[in-house]
Amino acid sequence: MLPHLPEKLVWQFSKRYIAGETMEDGIAVARQLNAEGIEVTMDLLGEFISNLQQAEANKNNYLELIDRFTSEKIKGNFSLKPTMFGLLLDQEVCYQHLRAIVQKAKDCNSFVRVDMEDSQCVDPELDIFKRLKKEFSGYVGLVVQAYLRRTFNDIMDLNKLPANGHPLNFRLCKGIYIEPAEIAYKEYQSVRDHYIEDLEFMLRHQIYVGIATHDKYLVEQALELIKRYRVSKDLYEFQMLYGVTPDLRKSIVEQGHRMRVYVPFGKDWFGYSTRRLKENPKMANHIIKALFFR
Ligand code: FAD
Repeated sequence: MLPHLPEKLVWQFSKRYIAGETMEDGIAVARQLNAEGIEVTMDLLGEFISNLQQAEANKNNYLELIDRFTSEKIKGNFSLKPTMFGLLLDQEVCYQHLRAIVQKAKDCNSFVRVDMEDSQCVDPELDIFKRLKKEFSGYVGLVVQAYLRRTFNDIMDLNKLPANGHPLNFRLCKGIYIEPAEIAYKEYQSVRDHYIEDLEFMLRHQIYVGIATHDKYLVEQALELIKRYRVSKDLYEFQMLYGVTPDLRKSIVEQGHRMRVYVPFGKDWFGYSTRRLKENPKMANHIIKALFFR
């Protein structure tokens, strides 16, 4: 258990990883990254809501953000967490909010990625994704987590969906939540091995993949697979979190691969940071590093 953390201390750690509290802050960071040849995916913070008014407000904020990106010609797309739109309160309301956001993205020729949350959310998030994919094929994608024992089967199952003119579009990550051993691989190398197995399947089946990792070993393995299967540059990209491993990020960009940075912003930065710390105590090491090795 982590002790109660004062807001000031958490901010010291968080400011490297969060664009700021406002939409303007998010847009400023997106522009900066665009200038370095990097695309973005924007994440409005605020995962846990207690009523559906908050879900409605979150939807409106995303709609405004998509408008701003379009009118200001910023290179990027949008990531969202279904719990912010009422997934755990009313799944149909959540679906309708996501539908409105993906419709907006389609109208603006953009793209929305549905983040994957903790294991209780996986089935409802897969259901919502399947419905959205049917209607908005090329404008919506999903995250899959290599640490879940079910994931390889989920990928194979999703690969049977009708293509509707566009390949599937996944972000592949290790997974950030603490899950029991019955449902998730716990051993570090085992998660890596399953990540590679999932990635190889995607690359062999022409599934578009966002290779989301800061693990140098996985980046090297991914580059090998891309070479081995002669994967076209328009079928993959690398993805990293804002503020994390900027040197590795730079070296990937310099080798000519597409890079997208996940940019969280919003007033709920405190909740976001402390939840991440509770979910993954390893992050506490990053706080200490950020505080003492600045
Ligand atoms: P690790 O072994 O954890 O990290 C490798 C190295 O990277 C570490 O040794 C450290 O030096 C550095 N590092 C990694 N993370 C940090 C950090 N936060 N701060 C400082 N240094 C760090 N998870 C989900 O469950 N659902 C999602 O929807 C989701 N979306 C993501 C989107 C993107 C673009 C990325 C990059 C990650 C996302 N994640 C998501 C998180 C992911 O599942 C992992 O928990 C996280 O990326 C750490 O795994 P890693 O592959 O980087 O390997």
